[in-house]
Amino acid sequence: MTNFADLNLAAPILRALTEENYTVPTPIQAQAIPYALAGRDILGLAQTGTGKTAAFALPILHRLADAGRKPDAKTCRALILSPTRELASQIADSFRAYGRHQHLSIATVFGGVSFRPQAERIGRGVDILVATPGRLIDHLDQGTLRLDKVEILVLDEADQMLDMGFVHAIRRIAKVLPKQRQSLFFSATMPRAIGQLAGELLHEPAEVSITPASTTVKAIDQQVIFVETPRKRQVLVDLLRETTPGRTLIFTRTKHGANHVVDHLEANGIPAGAIHGNKSQGQREKALAGFRDGSMKVLVATDIAARGIDVDGVTHVINFDLPNIAESYVHRIGRTARAGASGIAISFCDGEERPFLRSIEALIRERIATTDRRLPPGSPMPRMAASERPAQPHAQDRNKRRPPLRGPAKANDFGRAEGAGASAGPRAHAPGKRPQPAGGRSASAPHVSNGPAVIASTKPVRFNRQKPGSSFSKS
Ligand code: AMP
Repeated sequence: MTNFADLNLAAPILRALTEENYTVPTPIQAQAIPYALAGRDILGLAQTGTGKTAAFALPILHRLADAGRKPDAKTCRALILSPTRELASQIADSFRAYGRHQHLSIATVFGGVSFRPQAERIGRGVDILVATPGRLIDHLDQGTLRLDKVEILVLDEADQMLDMGFVHAIRRIAKVLPKQRQSLFFSATMPRAIGQLAGELLHEPAEVSITPASTTVKAIDQQVIFVETPRKRQVLVDLLRETTPGRTLIFTRTKHGANHVVDHLEANGIPAGAIHGNKSQGQREKALAGFRDGSMKVLVATDIAARGIDVDGVTHVINFDLPNIAESYVHRIGRTARAGASGIAISFCDGEERPFLRSIEALIRERIATTDRRLPPGSPMPRMAASERPAQPHAQDRNKRRPPLRGPAKANDFGRAEGAGASAGPRAHAPGKRPQPAGGRSASAPHVSNGPAVIASTKPVRFNRQKPGSSFSKS
C-alpha cells in the first residue's frame, strides 16, 4: 500500500488528507481501512501515535457520506467511545479535519461541562458522536439520546476504559445498540479482560495490529547521553561541532520542539531543516530535497513525519527526545545503517525519560552504552518551552511493572543509584546483555538479533572527527 488513493476512499476525504499533508497510510491504516470499508468488525491492537484515529475515522466518513441520509432527532449514526474527554475532543477534531469537505455533523458528549447544550445539540440528531461512557449513560438515562440508530460503534483505547472502571457502562451501552452494526475495537494491549469484552461486542472480527518493530539493530552503534532537557540543544550543537557528521536525522517529540531545535542550530551556524505536520508540502519537499542532495546535512523530524522519508545514507540518527513508545525507537534508528551500511544512533536522555530508556532496552533486549554530560546538581539551566519537555508515559506504561534492572535502580531520577548500565561519570560503560523481561513488553518484543550486541564492541563510537578528551567515545 503506497498511498491513500489505493484505499478507494471518497474524493472529499482524499482531498482533506492531501491538505493534512498525509501522503502514506500508516501500517495500522493500511491494514484496517480495507476491512472497515468492506463492513467487517475489527479488533485492532495499536497505541496512540500510530495513526489509529484515522484508521477508524476515514472508513466511517466514507460510509456515512455514501449513505447520504440525515440522522433522526436524538440519535447518532456513528458512536465513538473514548476513555477521556481530552481524547474525545481530539477524535472529534480529527473527524472535522478529515471530513472538512463533507457535510456531516459531529458532536461530543463528555462530563465536566454543561449537560443542556449537549442535549440540545444531540436533540437535532448527529452523524458522528464522540463520547465518554459516563456522560453518555447520563444522556440515555435522561432520554436526551437513543442509540437504536447506531450503524457503527468504535471503542477506542479499550484497555484504558477498563482501567478507568468503565466496563459496566460499556456493557450497558452495548445492550441498547442495534445488533446489526459494525464494531471497531482498538486497544494498546490485549489482556484477557479486553479479549473477553471484544468477544462480546464483535462479530467475526478481522484482527489487525501494528507489526512489531524489527530492524538489524546489530549494525547500529547505539549510545545514550544523559543530559538535562534544558541543556539538550546546547549539547546537540557541541556534538555537531565536535564532529563532522554525515547525513543526520534528528527526532523530536513535538512539532514545536522540532522548530526550536532548528532555530537553535541555525542560530549557531548549523544549517538545518524541519519536516512535520505543520509544514506545507512545499516546505517539506524543499527540506527533503536539501537533505537528499547533501546541501543540508541536518534534518529534524517528528515520528509520523519521518514515516514518509525515504533517504539512503543517513549516517546518524539523534533522538533529541526519547520516544515514549519503545517500538518508535527501533523505527527511528532503523533510518540509519540501511543497505548494509553502518550507522550511529545517539539518544539524549533526561531523568524523566529514564523509564522510556528501560522500555527500549527491554524491547531490544540489550543494554545501551551511556555517557554522562550532565552538570553538577544545582548548576543554572537555560529556560525552555513547554513543548520541549519530555513526554509523559502512556497510561498503560505508567501502570506497567518494569522488569528489574540489574543492581539498584531508581525511576525518574538522575541519582547515582542507577542500574548496572547507567553511568554517573563521564566514562561510558560497555553494556552487558540484560535478562529478558518477565512481563509487560516481552510479549510484543520484536525478534531482533541474538548475536553479540554491537554496542558492546570495542570500536569507538564517533562522528568522523573527535576532540581529544571528548566523552563521545565509548571505547
Ligand atoms: P493517532 O495515533 O491517531 O493519535 O495519530 C498520531 C498523529 O499522526 C496525529 O497527529 C495524526 O494527525 C498523525 N497522522 C495520522 N495518520 C497519518 C498519516 N498517514 N500521515 C501523516 N500523519 C498522520
